[in-house]
Formats: sequence, C-alpha cells, structure tokens
Amino acid sequence: MLAQGSGMTSVRTRTRMIERLRAQGICDEKVLAVMGQVPRHAFVDEALAHKAYDDLSLPIGFGQTISQPYIVARMSELVFAVPQHRNVLEIGTGCGYQTSILSKLFKTVHSIERVGGLVRNTRDRLSSLEIHNARLRHADGSRGLPDLAPFDAILITAAAPIVPENLMDQLAMGGRLVFPVGDVDQELRMIERVDDGFTETRLEKVKFVPLLPGIA
Ligand code: SAH
Repeated sequence: MLAQGSGMTSVRTRTRMIERLRAQGICDEKVLAVMGQVPRHAFVDEALAHKAYDDLSLPIGFGQTISQPYIVARMSELVFAVPQHRNVLEIGTGCGYQTSILSKLFKTVHSIERVGGLVRNTRDRLSSLEIHNARLRHADGSRGLPDLAPFDAILITAAAPIVPENLMDQLAMGGRLVFPVGDVDQELRMIERVDDGFTETRLEKVKFVPLLPGIA
C-alpha cells in the first residue's frame, strides 16, 4: 500500500521538490509538471520513502541507485527539447523512475537494463502505476537497439567509459543523445544530430554508477 497523502510522501512534499528543481534551474514546465505527477516514493524501498523527494540518489538493490531528482529533471529537459517525441531509448532502467518520467514525455519508451532482477521488479512496478507505453528489455544496452532505430532521443543513465559513438547513428535528425562519461571525474554530455553531422556539448559534472558489460 502506498503511503499516499501521509507526511513525507504528500502533495506538499512533491510541491517542495518542484520548487527546489526550479531554484536549481529546471525551467521546462512540462517536465516540472510530470515530475510533480509521478510518485517517486513508489520507486524506493518503503523504509526510504520518507527520503524519496529529497535531492538524493538512493539505493534500489543489486548495488544500483535511483538518480537524484535534479539529474532526472535535467536529463529529461535536455531530451524533451527535441523536435519530435515519437520514441526514446533509455539505457539503464534501474527502478524505472526516469522511464516513468519519459513515458509521459514521449509516445513510446524503450528501456534496456542488464540486471534481470531489476527488469522483473520494474515491469511489475510500471504496470501497477498503469504505465503501458514503456517496453523493457533485459540486455546489455551498450549497442542500443539498431532494429528499432532511429530514436528521437537516447539517454544513458550509467557512466560510459568513452563517448558511445555507435549510438549516434541511432539518432533521428534533430535527435539528442544525453549521457554521463568518465570514471571518477564524470561529465554530462549531449550529442545532437544536425544536417551536416553531429554537434557535441559538454555540460555539468555528475556522479553515476558505471555502465557495465554483459547481463546479470
Ligand atoms: N534510470 C534509473 C537509474 C538507474 S542506475 C533511475 O531512474 O533512477 C543505472 C542502471 O544502469 C543500473 O540499474 C544498472 O544496472 C544499469 N546498467 C549498467 N550498465 C548497463 C548496460 N550495459 N546495459 C543496460 N543497463 C545497464
């Protein structure tokens, strides 16, 4: 049973999170509205629900984490600025929080996760939240999904050791690939497909779990 309306998971708590996101520079109203709708406490263990709306990353089992609200909002805002919203590819489903946000911004979400236990838990969670436009796949996401390309946007929620150039070809014209890169010192980057090729923008310093090879 979700602790709806009670203290730390109430509408007021969510409203405070949105105000904080605005203060942190998030300004896309649609992204802010969606972040206010999706119940973040439903994605973490009940014992951590009271911290769900704080600006923290939290453990989700299997040694993985749910990203802090700011970074989810930031990456969502960057990918939502593309010209079309037909499909988006997410690499690193985790608990499905970012997936759920994307499901309200794009017609279809394809999300790949390497840990089988997370795929199973997240499928159940998304279905209980009545999110039906997200397709989850248990696989190593580093090659993307060439069969379903092109994508209007691609987002990687684990840090790649090097720029994932193979995924650039899976972008639609005007599409954006947003990803963290690096090991200890990580940076958020964005690659955009433009008429005569690609542009790359270096964004802020970030901290993500690493992108790992193979499945578990
Ligand atoms: N998007 C999540 C963040 C999950 S953390 C959120 O909303 O909070 C990153 C996830 O990427 C982990 O679940 C990890 O298992 C997964 N991951 C790491 N390497 C991967 C790979 N090569 N392919 C697919 N998923 C991967």
